[in-house]
Amino acid sequence: MADISIRTITKTHPGTSKPATDGISLDVVDGELLVLVGPSGCGKTTLLRMIAGLETPDSGTISINGKDVTYLPARRRNVSMVFQSYAVFPHMKVRQNIGFGLMLAKRPKAEIAERVQRAADLLNLRDYLDRYPSQLSGGQRQRVAVARAIVVDADVLLMDEPLSNLDALLRLQFRTEFKKIVQQIGTTTIYVTHDQAEALSLGDRVAVVREGRITQLGNPIDVYDHPADSFVGGFLGSPPMNFIPVDVTSSSGQVLLSAGEMRWQAPPHLASFAGRPVLMGVRAENIGVTADAFDSGGLPAKVDVVEPTGSAVLLTVRFADHDVKVQAPATFRAEPGTKVRLNLSEPQLRFYDPETALLLEDA
Ligand code: ATP
Repeated sequence: MADISIRTITKTHPGTSKPATDGISLDVVDGELLVLVGPSGCGKTTLLRMIAGLETPDSGTISINGKDVTYLPARRRNVSMVFQSYAVFPHMKVRQNIGFGLMLAKRPKAEIAERVQRAADLLNLRDYLDRYPSQLSGGQRQRVAVARAIVVDADVLLMDEPLSNLDALLRLQFRTEFKKIVQQIGTTTIYVTHDQAEALSLGDRVAVVREGRITQLGNPIDVYDHPADSFVGGFLGSPPMNFIPVDVTSSSGQVLLSAGEMRWQAPPHLASFAGRPVLMGVRAENIGVTADAFDSGGLPAKVDVVEPTGSAVLLTVRFADHDVKVQAPATFRAEPGTKVRLNLSEPQLRFYDPETALLLEDA
């Protein structure tokens, strides 16, 4: 059990000019599963390795349970780490692989046997304890790596893209299992991934990292619903949030949005942006779509591409000279070229400053 406190951690790798982490501050509470998510090269692994003690920051501090561990060697931090290349030892059976850390710590044999058994039960590996890694599937090998990490009862579990070597189906299965296991053992966990779906589904909170900084930190639903900037909106979600340039206009006391020939009511909080261009952010599932013939309301658009996904139909429509993704119900029928009407529900619209990319809050 542990909480982690990170303060203005900066690290520039030798031979590089840009910091891999640029003044990151972060508190992880006891028992929390926090996910660091961001594009390749944004500094996630560097931060994780500094928490593990495998890398030294240039400045800033890292504390675990109130104790400054910034310069403490990895072996004295009681931290367990699972890497992307979850190297299990090929010459050891699963039992020895899982118990390796306990053996190094010179724990009594009976205790090792008991704890290995418990970890194997938790990870559904009981029937494989006497096999070699080569006799296991990729998913089972991955479970061995996780069992080996949790068996030592570390204060903190650090996971660096642990599922990236698994195929899509195994990833999904293991994601659910992993969430359950972390809930059961209650160990404070930091999990690194570049997969936004994994981040949203796993994390108690997610920290979106970009160019060495945390852009947004919060619970997954809030971050998904209220992206703090257009980068987060574009990074989280599949498809990414739509961003449509619109103008805010004010006429006869009414605040309106306009794009091309179209005009429609603007949310009242945009009144102070009258006369300015803004970026309207809206998610595909928050755009209502109806066939043109059945509805005279809504804004006109034309279907360009129709992609059934099974549970829904993803449409790419031309709206105000922009390609916009719209998620329609699975039963929605349309052909390329069909005219449709879009209904934008005001509570689900977000507005961003085109220059700073930041969310325009109530002004
Ligand atoms: P990925 O998802 O691809 O693993 P990441 O977000 O984990 O990426 P880091 O591995 O932390 O990113 O890398 C951050 C930046 O630091 C990158 O620009 C990378 O090239 C650089 N970097 C990482 N390790 C080293 C190193 N040992 N020497 C020099 N530069 C490094």
